[in-house]
Amino acid sequence: MGARQVHIIGAGMAGLSAALQLALAGERVTVYEAAPFAGGRCRSFLDRDLDCRIDNGNHLVLSGNVAIHDYLFLTNAVESMGGPGAPLFPFMDLESGERWIAHMNMGHMPWWVFDKNRRVAGTRVRDYLSIIEIMTAGPDATITDQLRTDTTLYHRFWEPMVIGVLNTEPEIASAQMLANVFAQSFAAGGRACIPLIPKIGLSETFVMPCLNVLRQHGVEIKYGHRLRSLKLDGPHIRELMFNNDTTLEIGAADWVILALPAWVTRDLLPEVSIPTDFRSIINAHFRVEVPNNPAGFTGLVGGIAEWSFVRNGVASVTISCAERYDATATRDLAAPVWGDLAKLYDLDPEKIPPHKIFKEKYATFAATPAQNALRPLPYDFRWRNLALAGEWTATGLPSTIEGAIRSGVKAAQVVMRWVT
Ligand SMILES: Cc1cc2nc3c(=O)[nH]c(=O)nc-3n(C[C@H](O)[C@H](O)[C@H](O)COP(=O)(O)OP(=O)(O)OC[C@H]3O[C@@H](n4cnc5c(N)ncnc54)[C@H](O)[C@@H]3O)c2cc1C
Repeated sequence: MGARQVHIIGAGMAGLSAALQLALAGERVTVYEAAPFAGGRCRSFLDRDLDCRIDNGNHLVLSGNVAIHDYLFLTNAVESMGGPGAPLFPFMDLESGERWIAHMNMGHMPWWVFDKNRRVAGTRVRDYLSIIEIMTAGPDATITDQLRTDTTLYHRFWEPMVIGVLNTEPEIASAQMLANVFAQSFAAGGRACIPLIPKIGLSETFVMPCLNVLRQHGVEIKYGHRLRSLKLDGPHIRELMFNNDTTLEIGAADWVILALPAWVTRDLLPEVSIPTDFRSIINAHFRVEVPNNPAGFTGLVGGIAEWSFVRNGVASVTISCAERYDATATRDLAAPVWGDLAKLYDLDPEKIPPHKIFKEKYATFAATPAQNALRPLPYDFRWRNLALAGEWTATGLPSTIEGAIRSGVKAAQVVMRWVT
């Protein structure tokens, strides 16, 4: 390989994925990260109040996420993933108390919908034809343009899936983006829908193993390096200025990959088109021993809590599109969220265990057709030695780990395939 140096800014999943591809190809890589740790939105940390490690949000991925699979394979982290080992999704309706497990069969032919013990409770076989409406949606269609909202399947499957996967209200969420997720999961059969959950934590699966491989390949990660500005010379980036007063000269053959959140990229390069509308996610963690089910999580409908994940003595709840609860102080959500969990686990709703509630204001971009149209490609001819990465770039997927990893792979390909 040549002597060029690739400078990657941001050590979230997009930056780590780009660094991994480049390092394995023998490129010289340095990563610069503002925080004192890597992982960005996909990491675990020690919470001193709860005295345990928790994830920065529950993250559910599926076996059909091929970019994640490749990433875990290349970082020797496949074994760090757990989960039920089968395509099953336990649910509870908090209003009626009904419980069911949507249990797909492994193959492509979805015969599970013909078995009332395996499909969503209260639904009919013909309701499932609605997936055709999603898979054939045009670029401007929203979820509610494509689906009837007065069916049990909508209430118990489509709505929780859309809010969980797209983190956007179904009335404005892009049906095509959901179709892109479904193309590699539900439409690909049960084998592609096996839920995968890190056995220990997000960092132990997605961050630490990758850092080990990068270290073995001589990649240095410079923490505490927040990029403040870039200096351009015509179409070339020539200098990077960091907030710790270091300035880095970019050599004639060198490349820069910005793997930063959308809004940070816009501040640095205002000419880049970026999504402008974002959605928050609330995560509530309760320190409590509760019985786990074989999946490790439960989908909840009819309450505030939407998904409950149980691991190592902590029950963690996800609430997506959390703008709906802006009028309530985050701490005041503990009682109603615990009320939902108490129903699920048959516990006393008055005895709220030690807990911590986090709100990630800019958790994801809003997965609407209009926002999707703003997402840039990884390369733009206005900047000759710059590639862009991040879940918000044009991957076709919503803001997910799969999308972030794919964006990093694409940015690395731009650099490696560039012929000077
Ligand atoms: C609560 C929550 C729940 C989620 N649930 C799921 C899920 O179930 N499934 C799923 O697939 N995805 C989920 N996601 C989305 C997923 O976490 C993100 O899409 C993904 O982690 C984004 O990675 P990224 O590298 O693009 O961005 P980021 O993770 O934001 O990484 C950007 C990095 O750049 C650094 N940085 C910022 N500014 C600067 C600067 N000026 N200079 C240097 N460094 C800088 C940041 O510190 C960060 O490390 C969830 C996200 C949240 C917040």
